[in-house]
Amino acid sequence: MKKCVLLYSGGIDSTNTVVVLKDKRFEIFPLFIDYCHKARTEELKSARYFTSYFKLNKLKIMDFNHYNNLKHPLIRSGKISLIKDLKRSETTSINYLPYRNLVFAILGVIYGKYINARYLSFGFIKDTITRQFPDTSYDFVSKLNDIIKLIDSHYNRIQIISETLNYSKSDLIEYGIKKRIPLKKTYSCYYSAPRCGECESCLQVINAFKKLSRRYKPELLKQYYPYATQTKK
Ligand SMILES: [Zn+2]
Repeated sequence: MKKCVLLYSGGIDSTNTVVVLKDKRFEIFPLFIDYCHKARTEELKSARYFTSYFKLNKLKIMDFNHYNNLKHPLIRSGKISLIKDLKRSETTSINYLPYRNLVFAILGVIYGKYINARYLSFGFIKDTITRQFPDTSYDFVSKLNDIIKLIDSHYNRIQIISETLNYSKSDLIEYGIKKRIPLKKTYSCYYSAPRCGECESCLQVINAFKKLSRRYKPELLKQYYPYATQTKK
């Protein structure tokens, strides 16, 4: 088995990434980063649930509270934005938390060194708009690996991977459905409960389920993720 730290939020992408990695014979060490984000409590609940459901290694929680000083909309100290009043392009830009995945990579590599892992995985997907979220791209993963090679000459240095970059969100969700994963236990909203149904993260999941509705019965999809069809409050 290949020891792999997975940056795990308990969201729909990283949960389905668990399934993909397990099928590829990775031994998963889930890592949850608490960066003072608004969805922290709900995400952690989901991450704990699935760590137990998949019988993964113990969920490691690392704190990184420096984003609290930025007063960013996604962070607890930030003002709640009225998402419904913003244009779609604006919601995407306010949802970019500067350097977040770079910070996550560094924390993940440090944890990986500690437990002797050989891999660190993100759960990136193909249809993320990389212009707006450049830290979710092939290029980002590839350049991180170049930096690791530059500064870590040890034979057992960690390689960063994202085995799900070939999947669209709907492909990845379908993968989970075929494996009968209880996806309704995931949490993919930028804000605390209940799911807002309007943020970029909620909308991406809703759109992915819309695509799947061409091939699956609505009752089945509702069973897996009732929030994709709920009427907004
Ligand atoms: Zn939301």
